[in-house]
Amino acid sequence: SIPLGYFGGIGAASKNGILFKGSNFLDSIAQISQVVMDKTGTMTEGVFNVQEVHLQPDFENSKILDFINALESKSTHPISTAIKDHVGEVDPSVVLENVEEIAGHGLKAQVEGKQLLVGNFKLMDKFSIPYSIDPSSIVYTLVAIGYDGKFAGYLTIADSIKADAQHTIDQLKAMGVGITMLSGDKSNVVKFVADKLGIPNSFGGLLPEDKVEKVKEIKAQKGTVAFVGDGVNDAPVVAISDVGIAMGGLGSDATIETADVVIQDDRPSKIPMAISIGKKTKQIVW
Ligand code: ADP
Ligand code: MG
Repeated sequence: SIPLGYFGGIGAASKNGILFKGSNFLDSIAQISQVVMDKTGTMTEGVFNVQEVHLQPDFENSKILDFINALESKSTHPISTAIKDHVGEVDPSVVLENVEEIAGHGLKAQVEGKQLLVGNFKLMDKFSIPYSIDPSSIVYTLVAIGYDGKFAGYLTIADSIKADAQHTIDQLKAMGVGITMLSGDKSNVVKFVADKLGIPNSFGGLLPEDKVEKVKEIKAQKGTVAFVGDGVNDAPVVAISDVGIAMGGLGSDATIETADVVIQDDRPSKIPMAISIGKKTKQIVW
């Protein structure tokens, strides 16, 4: 099999597109007891598509979709790409003022002198926008729109599970590693993906600092943690994990820089592979 020792271990990993930033991480990953993973962009493609558009009657013949398209063009969140793909080119006549990105919630601006909000239903709650639907009854990621203090409607968007996600989970289970999924997305969508893959523990609606708290809890209760994520919202949790792993393809620069291990092709099956390489290296070195 593979010629190992630390240099061999790092070499074998890098041939498979797994970059270890130090040989000490081969040791730590070999001993990991828990793998905690982000959902969007890590276990799913992180490429959303608009499924349905539901506008309130008052907004049906309005420019509201052009407004949110213009606002989303200021964001790099994967959701912004879905909106652009659906609506098309940004209407240059839409003038935005006071654009703000609200972490874990979405975006806010002024358009035609009125407040425009686009994001999740937590954002609607934060700005006291009343709505009559129950977001937890819909198993899709939702993009809600508020304009001038009123609920203007929502879009359902969907992402797909990565082709090797099931294999990843099966292999981690066979290794006896505990698995948890954490996400900023809605809890019922997170649970849907977790159930589909057979991930026993999942938590949604988390802000970056909530992910940090969860990982600290898991470390205290269950043992050492490798965390795998891609988004800029994952940088803090990658930093505090025993082994921080970043998706290197579509992952954010901050997260890649903070990580101890980088998976270049964004395939989650490289996680169990990295653990096996760590274990084999250990047998040879010790
Ligand atoms: P995640 O990438 O895990 O979903 P984020 O913290 O980036 O976590 O976002 C959490 C949630 O906030 C998203 O699932 C989405 O509902 C909402 N959100 C964030 N940014 C935007 C945006 N630009 N447009 C619409 N919704 C957004
Ligand atoms: Mg993500």
